[in-house]
Amino acid sequence: MALYRKYRSATFAEVIGQEHVTEPLRAALAAGRINHAYLFSGPRGCGKTSSARILARSLNCAQGPTPDPCGVCDSCVELAPNGPGSIDVIEIDAASHGGVDDARDLRERAFFAPVRDRYKVYIIDEAHMVTAQGFNALLKLVEEPPDFLVFVFATTEPDKVLTTIRSRTHHYPFRLIPPQTLRAHLEQICAAEGIAVEPAVLPLVVRAGGGSARDSLSILDQLLAGAGPEGVTYARAVALLGVTDSALLDEMVDALAAGDHAAVYATVDRVVDAGHDPRRFASDLLDRFRDLLVLDAVPDAADRGLVSAPGDQVNRMTDQAMRLGPATVTRFAEIVHTALLEMRGSTAPRLVLELLCARMQLPDAATDSAALLQRLERLERRVTLGVAAAAAGTAPAGADPVPPEPNAPAGRTAAKAPAEKA
Ligand SMILES: [Zn+2]
Repeated sequence: MALYRKYRSATFAEVIGQEHVTEPLRAALAAGRINHAYLFSGPRGCGKTSSARILARSLNCAQGPTPDPCGVCDSCVELAPNGPGSIDVIEIDAASHGGVDDARDLRERAFFAPVRDRYKVYIIDEAHMVTAQGFNALLKLVEEPPDFLVFVFATTEPDKVLTTIRSRTHHYPFRLIPPQTLRAHLEQICAAEGIAVEPAVLPLVVRAGGGSARDSLSILDQLLAGAGPEGVTYARAVALLGVTDSALLDEMVDALAAGDHAAVYATVDRVVDAGHDPRRFASDLLDRFRDLLVLDAVPDAADRGLVSAPGDQVNRMTDQAMRLGPATVTRFAEIVHTALLEMRGSTAPRLVLELLCARMQLPDAATDSAALLQRLERLERRVTLGVAAAAAGTAPAGADPVPPEPNAPAGRTAAKAPAEKA
């Protein structure tokens, strides 16, 4: 069974990352303040439909309405995740049943009292797909519902729900799930499934899932399905997800920090040789620059969940942020961002990638203030390094106070120096 179905929440307490919605709902249920229409809005795969089912389960539990459905009465069993469903809880997919005839049909049936339970609950999924005539046919019913009737409209686009309907609802906006919450959730599931997953894998899954629990679990599902006896390895996850191996990003950032032009283009070569899409690489590089900027501004960003990566990776990135400096990283990020837009329609994305590398490395050729700041930052860093080296007694007296760039061949640095002084 798919992980998303297997680990679907059965109570509001189990819905992850939506406490701002589930807690007031639980409080309302505990106090018996039941509305006749609810609007659950938010991005796909973050728990709207699951929560609508949980609300129905909480309303119709034999012990209810209760924030904690008993789990053993007929209604609870039927409405459990993967249960058969209840005759008094009707789910309608408005994408296929949003027309005016469907709405009229619903209107007629809605006046019949529930067969067994307290409430008759209509869950209208993809509610933005209900047509204007469809909503108008429902309007009277939502305005003056029989006591036993409850509507839950679930939608990604609340603005498309007819205003007169929307104003009758209690609106609960769901949000994308924060990365650290999602990661903890995935860790629990991996442990429950008893499959070893390398620590660097889950941040990849979280990033690829884009804050949606459903998407993240589908990705994890695929990785677990293809896991060998050693579990899910980083190498396999990188290959399957088509993301850039962080080692390639490290190479690129290290080469840029060292001003090693040959290494920069060699990395581009390896990206293309390995069959990576240059666009994907540029996009992942932009993500990396974002992480570097956050690490520069917030040293404990990893502990705060602002940067999601395993510990050794965080150490490497902190070091990279220090070597580059924030003005330089900001300029790099702007260049990559612009290049990504150019790549969208480009038939030669590799060329655009190489040109963006050239632009990053040649602040001397640009006259904008970002480029000037990068040059200034480079000078500052060299002076600091030079002073530190002199204090340590490693620089011989009378030597050039500018130390050679790390990793750069000595000959090339010497050849470049006169041009920089000019
Ligand atoms: Zn129950």
